[in-house]
Amino acid sequence: MTTPPRLPPGHAPAGPLSKLSRRSRIALLGVALACVLYLGLLVQSWQNRLAYVEEQTRLRATQTSATLSVQVGTLVAGLEHLARSLASEYANYPERYFALSVRTALGTFPPGSISHIRVLDDQGHTVFSSRPTPASSPQPSIAIADREQFRAHANGGQAEFLIGRPALDWESGKWVIELSYPIRRTDGRFAGVMLLSISPDYISGYFREVFAAESDVAMLLRNDGSFLARSWLQAEVLDKQLPPEDPFRAEPEARSGERLIVSPVDGIERYYAWHRVMEYPLVAVVGLDRERALATPRVQTRNSLIRNSLGLAIILATSVWIALLFARLRADQELLAANEERLELALEGGKLGSWDRDIASGRIVFDERWCGMLGYRPEELEPSLDTIRRLAHPDDWPRVQAALDRHFRGETEILEIEHRARHRDGHWVWVDVRGRITHRAPDGKPLRMSGTQVDLTERVTATHLRRALLDNNSAEIILTAPDRTIRFSNQRAIDTFSPDGEPLDGRSIRIIHRDDKAYEAFAVNYTPLRAHGSIHAEHLLKNARNELRWYDFYGALLDPGQPEGDVIWTMIDVTSRHRAEEALAAAHVRLTKIIERFPGGVLVEDEAGRVVVANQTLCDLLASAPIHAATLIGHDHARLRRALTREVLDVVLADDRLPPPPDRSGRTHETVLSDGRSIRTTLLPVLHGEDDIGRLWIVHDVTERRRHEQTLERLATTDALTGLENRRSFMARLEAELTRIAHGGPGGALIMVDLDHFKRVNDTHGHAAGDAVLVHLAHLLRQALRREDIAGRLGGEEFAVLLPDTDPAGAAILAERLRAMLEESSIETGSATIRITMSAGLAPLEGTGPAILERADAALYRAKNEGRNRVVSAVDHA
Ligand code: GH3
Ligand code: MG
Ligand code: MG
Repeated sequence: MTTPPRLPPGHAPAGPLSKLSRRSRIALLGVALACVLYLGLLVQSWQNRLAYVEEQTRLRATQTSATLSVQVGTLVAGLEHLARSLASEYANYPERYFALSVRTALGTFPPGSISHIRVLDDQGHTVFSSRPTPASSPQPSIAIADREQFRAHANGGQAEFLIGRPALDWESGKWVIELSYPIRRTDGRFAGVMLLSISPDYISGYFREVFAAESDVAMLLRNDGSFLARSWLQAEVLDKQLPPEDPFRAEPEARSGERLIVSPVDGIERYYAWHRVMEYPLVAVVGLDRERALATPRVQTRNSLIRNSLGLAIILATSVWIALLFARLRADQELLAANEERLELALEGGKLGSWDRDIASGRIVFDERWCGMLGYRPEELEPSLDTIRRLAHPDDWPRVQAALDRHFRGETEILEIEHRARHRDGHWVWVDVRGRITHRAPDGKPLRMSGTQVDLTERVTATHLRRALLDNNSAEIILTAPDRTIRFSNQRAIDTFSPDGEPLDGRSIRIIHRDDKAYEAFAVNYTPLRAHGSIHAEHLLKNARNELRWYDFYGALLDPGQPEGDVIWTMIDVTSRHRAEEALAAAHVRLTKIIERFPGGVLVEDEAGRVVVANQTLCDLLASAPIHAATLIGHDHARLRRALTREVLDVVLADDRLPPPPDRSGRTHETVLSDGRSIRTTLLPVLHGEDDIGRLWIVHDVTERRRHEQTLERLATTDALTGLENRRSFMARLEAELTRIAHGGPGGALIMVDLDHFKRVNDTHGHAAGDAVLVHLAHLLRQALRREDIAGRLGGEEFAVLLPDTDPAGAAILAERLRAMLEESSIETGSATIRITMSAGLAPLEGTGPAILERADAALYRAKNEGRNRVVSAVDHA
């Protein structure tokens, strides 16, 4: 029993034809089309045949009418001959032998054809009659004489022989056709008419012999359309005449014709063919019943149609049936193929080999996969139990044998055993063998068993691998049941936590906690674990040596679908990390303290420029408004700019743009803030190995130191009494000026000044008054000199003036003005008014500094010698 093949989803069954394949449907369609075509051709051939039959009918009608016309012609010619002969006889021998001739003539014609022979005299009176005259009834004086026919003869018309219209014979009461011939004397004078009465019934009877079927008809008409005879229903037409438009009346020239019409007499549709009778004004007409003519082919057609339709229907039904059979066959084949494929797939997918054992003979058939599993081809293995024994691992064989025995004894429903079998290469393959007894004899004796074998090596290897992975894991792994007992622990967990070295399975997880309190407290972790599927925490646990150590704890549900189920705990000893972190935290605290106490501002930023740490001193130094150091943590430069003095931040940003200092030692910048403070900022890169992990700012307020240094510098370069440059400073300026000139700068001059008789001032007014005079001179010098000119006190009451960019003449003018200013000025002391003069020696800035001084000094000496209170230029006395 097979189930019908399943339709693909979305295809509702739609009748038996829906099962057919495309090809079958096309073939069926082809057969149907062929049938239709065949029917079409058949109908056409029938139509051709009908047309042919019609044509034949028409032809037959034409031929028959022609034949009939010839026969009628012959008959009428015979009658004419008779009439002429009798007329001639009567004219020559009216009394002697005429009656005998009439009798002879009547005897030669078929009985009943000529009903009556008469002779009329020239007045139309019957003078002879073939019929015996009854005594009772008087002989009519005239019959035909009234009629046109007689008059035609009497008047000597063209035609001699005339055929009359049917007329009722007053004597017999029957229709007769009168044929007449004129009787003429030897001189040609009209002497009477010979009358032959022909019975239309006779002609009709003759016609009926030819046309036995009532529906076919033969008729004889005169050219004027009056009926002379009709094979059937003659009585209805004898007194009738066809209308003038009837073809043979309308076309007097036509010899013959035909047409299809419905007879007005009996309503039958016929092919009518007419033919004129040669020499006589007569027309023979034959009408053949169209229906009758076509009846046979019609019946044949109908029968053929029925037979052919039946045949075609049988062909079609057979085709459909065959197609359905094919479809069914194909479906069965597909199903079978699908089943085989499924089985094959199942075996293939499961890497299943199969075996079949005939118990009586001991023969076991192994399939290709069974053999392939062990590296053999089927023909290479003997099909016997011995093959299994030979290949099985010797350690495993007793188990295999025992399992087989148990199954044979009926203790197991299914044989199931895992064992090792030797692969052809020599390695061992783990196989799982399953099977059962499939046939038993009536007494229960097993006859046949079959089963499968699957290669378990991968699974066993995987199990070993898993075991190895678990046991060699650097983490302690424990699986706990919902009641917190241990189901499984890896070797490392046993080594770490088992006090006796025995497996932990079955014990409570309490064993790894330091005390009951910790064990109870740990239970809080189960709530988030059950809710989220996992939990991550750190805990102090107690190891087998009773040491407390920190563990990183990762707990996960074994089956996430069962929140209340088993939990896998993975634990990593993080004690050393914990200690390192603690040490780090302590170091951090210490560092923070140091930074806080550091005599200066400190800020550490990370590589992204965000503040990691800053001390309060930095805030106090740089904050635009008082802030707490903690508020800077995490801020970047953009936010620092709002909190800290702009100038310093600009310096830091500018430093960013500079190339890193070559020795990575950092750079120091000094900034004078708008409030006058001098801030020194040292920026040091923070390096970790080669990596730049941030920057350290060390900030000091160096305002005081700067001031101090400036004072010292001023003290070192100025004369304390006068505030002018001291000798060393003046000489340095002179050297600088000479260097400038040496580099192409404009030349200059030097004036050496000495007070005249200064000793006397000291002597007269005291040393303090002398000092006041010196200060007075310094004052005058400052007043008279330009900004770029430099005045210095070289020692005692000797002064010098350096005039850059000044020629000797200009210098002389200045010196003269100085001299005049001093001469005209006076110095008020508390007790006296002192007036004093000066002498000056002038030299251009040419040669070395000492040489210039020497030349100026020489000029000054000359001024003293020449009477003092004057200026002498070295140029004038070179
Ligand atoms: P001359 O016109 O030749 O220069 O006469 P002079 O008296 O000025 O002679 P000289 O230049 O030799 O004298 C210098 C004197 O200046 C000697 C010293 O007493 C006096 N003197 C030097 N240094 C100071 C000083 O610092 N203060 C005072 N009050 N006197 C000084
Ligand atoms: Mg002097
Ligand atoms: Mg002097």
